[in-house]
Amino acid sequence: MTDIIEIPPALLPRDGRFGSGPSKVTDAQVDALVASQPGVLGTSHRQAPVKNLVRDIRAMLGELYALPAGYEVMLGNGGSTMFWDAAAFSLVRERAQHCAFGEFGSKFAKATDAAPHLGASSIRTVAPGGAVLPEAEPGIDVYAWPHNETSTGVCVPVVRPEGIGEALTVVDATSAAGGVEVDIAQADVYYFAPQKSFAADGGLWFAIVSPAAIARIDEIAASGRWIPESLSLKVALDNSRAEQTLNTPAVATLVLMRAQLEWMLAGGGLPFTAARSRASSDLLYDWAARTGWTETFVTDPGLRSPVVATIDLHQSVDSAELRRHLRAQGVVDIDPYRKLGRNQIRVGVYPAVDPEDVSRLVQSMDYLVERLLT
Ligand SMILES: *Cc1c(COP(=O)(O)O)cnc(C)c1O
Repeated sequence: MTDIIEIPPALLPRDGRFGSGPSKVTDAQVDALVASQPGVLGTSHRQAPVKNLVRDIRAMLGELYALPAGYEVMLGNGGSTMFWDAAAFSLVRERAQHCAFGEFGSKFAKATDAAPHLGASSIRTVAPGGAVLPEAEPGIDVYAWPHNETSTGVCVPVVRPEGIGEALTVVDATSAAGGVEVDIAQADVYYFAPQKSFAADGGLWFAIVSPAAIARIDEIAASGRWIPESLSLKVALDNSRAEQTLNTPAVATLVLMRAQLEWMLAGGGLPFTAARSRASSDLLYDWAARTGWTETFVTDPGLRSPVVATIDLHQSVDSAELRRHLRAQGVVDIDPYRKLGRNQIRVGVYPAVDPEDVSRLVQSMDYLVERLLT
C-alpha cells in the first residue's frame, strides 16, 4: 500500500462517508442505539416500547412534512423496491404512467409493466442526466416519478400534472425525503426508505399517503384482486395505524431513524436539512465549475440534485484510481452508479454529512490529482 499518496490530515474529511445509500450514520444515532439497550432492542415489536418507537417516527414524519388534513404515515418491511411491488398490487387500478430517467424510475416502471393484472405501462424516458415529467394521458390512474433519481443525480419538481382527474401521483422520494423540500399536497403517495437522507439502515419503507391514496388502497383491497399479504398496502395501513408492521421489523433501524428525525426537527425541520444538503452540493458544483478536470454531469442547473452530486472527470483523471487513493484513507463510496459506466464520481451529501467535510473532500481530491497527473 506504499503507492498510496498520503493526504495531509488538515485536508482529509473528518468523516469520509459520502455514499448515496447506505449513507453516513451519525454518532448521535449510534448513541441512541446504545441507549435503547436493553429497553427496546431485543424486545417484542408487539409491546409498548417498540410500538411507541413506531408512533414517534410516524408523528415526527408528520411534523417534518406538516401533513395536510387526512394524510397518514405508513410503513412496512422490504425497502422501496418492495414498495414498488406493493404499489403494483394496491395502488394501480389499471394502468400506470412512469417517468424513467435513471435506474430507479426504470425499475418501478418495469414492475407495473410486467404485472399480469395491469395494462402495459406508459413509460416516458430520456437519456441519463436529463429528466422527463408526467403528463396527463387517457386511461392512466397512477402517475409515478422519482423526486430525486439517485443513479444520475437528477432532481425534479413534485407537481401534480394538470388534467389528471382522480389519478394518483406516486412519488419515489427514497433519496429526496428528509433532504429536499416539497409541497406534500402535490403527492398522493410520497415513499422512501431510511438509509438515504435519514441516515439509518435499509430494509423498511415509509409512505406518506393522501386521503385519495387511502381510498384507492381500500377500493382495490375490496375489489377481490388477489394480493399477497406481504405486498398488501391495506394490510400495511391497518398495521401502521396500530404502530405495527405485518411481520417483524428491524428494531435497530427504527431506533436510528427516530434519532435522526429528532436531530432534523430540533434543527428546524426540512428548511434546515435541505439548506445543509444544498450547501454541501453547492460546494461540489462550484468546485466542478472552476476545476479544469471536472464537469457537472447534469447540464441543466435546475435539475442538479442537492443531495446526490454527479461529477464527470476528464479522461486524464481515472475515477477508479482517484477513489482507490481516497478509500485507502477512509474516504469511501463516491463511486458512480455502476450501470451508468462513466468516468465519474457520485457524492451523497445527505443532511447528516457535514458541509465542512465536503469542503475537505474537494481539497483532498485536488491534492491527489495534482500529484496523480505529474
Ligand atoms: C435507493 C433507492 C431505491 C431503492 O431502495 P431500497 O430500499 O434499496 O429498495 C429506490 N429508489 C430510489 C430513488 C433510490 O435512491
